[in-house]
Amino acid sequence: QSKSRGRNAVSFYDPGMQAAVAERVALQGDMLRGIEVGQFHLHYQPQVDEHGNVTGAEALLRWQHPQRGWISPATFIPIAEESGHIISLGNWVLETACRQVADWRRMPGRERMTMAVNVSAVQLRRPDFVQTVMQTLCATEAPPDSLRLELTESLLLHDIDDTIAKMEALRAHGVGFEIDDFGTGYSSLSYLKRLPINVLKIDRTFVRDLLENDRDAAIVHTIITLADSLGIGVIAEGVETKEQYDDLQRLGCRAFQGYLFGYPVPAGEFCTRKDLEAACGAVPAA
Ligand code: C2E
Ligand code: MG
Ligand code: MG
Ligand code: MG
Repeated sequence: QSKSRGRNAVSFYDPGMQAAVAERVALQGDMLRGIEVGQFHLHYQPQVDEHGNVTGAEALLRWQHPQRGWISPATFIPIAEESGHIISLGNWVLETACRQVADWRRMPGRERMTMAVNVSAVQLRRPDFVQTVMQTLCATEAPPDSLRLELTESLLLHDIDDTIAKMEALRAHGVGFEIDDFGTGYSSLSYLKRLPINVLKIDRTFVRDLLENDRDAAIVHTIITLADSLGIGVIAEGVETKEQYDDLQRLGCRAFQGYLFGYPVPAGEFCTRKDLEAACGAVPAA
């Protein structure tokens, strides 16, 4: 007994845990300066239709830390949310992504390109969220229908009326919404009929084992059927192989994102994609 108490006492002062806390505090401190001096970058990953033609991109945040090198958003986004820095960071992301899609849309044949931007619960909760998005669209000259805000299911659990009001206000201007990582959250299906959602993004954990696992195939099929009957679109995330792509098409999926079609890359690289030239050039203006 005393031994287990001893272990608990030791684990409370666990040097590993202390180091982790110190690391979080240090990264929080570095973050604001990082935004100011341009250590954050957006990479863009293509989203494609059933023919593999690029229809848009998702903006994914990268942090090039001067000492630590590239840090994953999975590491720094939670820290940014905790510290409130996600507001400055999120505003920078929104502005940069909007400016980029505005640029793309000015190019001939790219009048339909969309830009998906991940939005944190902390951002959406702010009373000025709708105003911030509308002002950013205005300032960057990005058409509202070029912007797709990606929300996660967990975000829909709280304050649903506030969420719906904000989504509807933005939707009235043409802004679209995607539910990210769909199927991994705890949400009830009832919100699907209440929220103005354009697209469900099927989480990549269901896509990963699609070929080996009948249950994953059943879940993917169910999500697609559900979305179809509600008039909502579907994008499969994390498509890495031709076999997954074929299987997803067989299950009725018509939009895709994943390494098979392209890694997240800086804007310069994204623009020189041959298929983007071809695909977007072939799409008639809306
Ligand atoms: P997410 O929004 O679900 O983004 C998709 C993640 O899957 C990205 O990871 C992307 O690089 C990765 N991915 C894309 N295709 C494949 C594939 O074929 N296979 C595999 N294994 N992975 C693939 P990333 O860039 O590390 O971002 C992780 C998460 O961080 C994002 O998940 C998103 O939740 C969050 N995040 C990224 N940028 C932002 C941002 O600007 N704001 C906020 N709030 N969150 C962000
Ligand atoms: Mg996303
Ligand atoms: Mg996702
Ligand atoms: Mg995710």
